[in-house]
Amino acid sequence: MSMKERLLLLYKLNRIDRELHELYSLRGDIPAKIEDLNSEKLELDERSNTLKAELEDILNAEKNVQAENDELLVRIEKDDERLRSGAVKSNKEYDALAKEIEDAKTRIKENERAAKEDTSARRLAIENEMLLIDGQLEDVNTELEQNQKELEELTKQTGEEEKELSTERKELISKIDPEDYEHYERLSKVRFGEAIAVVRKGSCLGCYSSIPPQKAIEIRMAEKFYACESCGRILIAEEMITA
Ligand SMILES: [Zn+2]
Repeated sequence: MSMKERLLLLYKLNRIDRELHELYSLRGDIPAKIEDLNSEKLELDERSNTLKAELEDILNAEKNVQAENDELLVRIEKDDERLRSGAVKSNKEYDALAKEIEDAKTRIKENERAAKEDTSARRLAIENEMLLIDGQLEDVNTELEQNQKELEELTKQTGEEEKELSTERKELISKIDPEDYEHYERLSKVRFGEAIAVVRKGSCLGCYSSIPPQKAIEIRMAEKFYACESCGRILIAEEMITA
């Protein structure tokens, strides 16, 4: 393939990319907004899961304490029955039972106090934060839905054209030398989708700097790739694209 043909292929690619870019820009900031909303949603979900796990731990701890208290109450009742039944013969046994009852009552009180002081405040805070997060999630989801619908509507209008351009682009790329394509893509990224610039009347139309006459002649001959010295774009003579 001649150098001229290689250049022309890149020029055509640039034209397609420009059209695609215009179609994308019709969507405005919606895709970026959707991305932001999705990451916000992810953060809220993560926070919500952390809180849920912590709440579960607290509830389990409370359940354990409740189970212990229930057991203690059963023991107190049994001891009490035994004391009342008159089966206790010695003072020693009587004292032991009385002490056991007293200890159990103290332990129950301690458990109840700990539950009140240590976990109920934290539990309340978690429940409040979860309510807040649920509200935020609802807002994010609503906004996300609206934006997605809007994007869908816009894509519906441009989708057909976009598909055609993408197919055209793919076909074109299959003809382009891979090294040329790589070069083009690299430039395209730093030059906002404009990797190729036309030279008209001794000026680069990419940056409007002037090209020395001798170089302009060489660019017309197109025996190699020339880059604009001020903007770095690949230069192509206007005569080549109008011919
Ligand atoms: Zn330039």
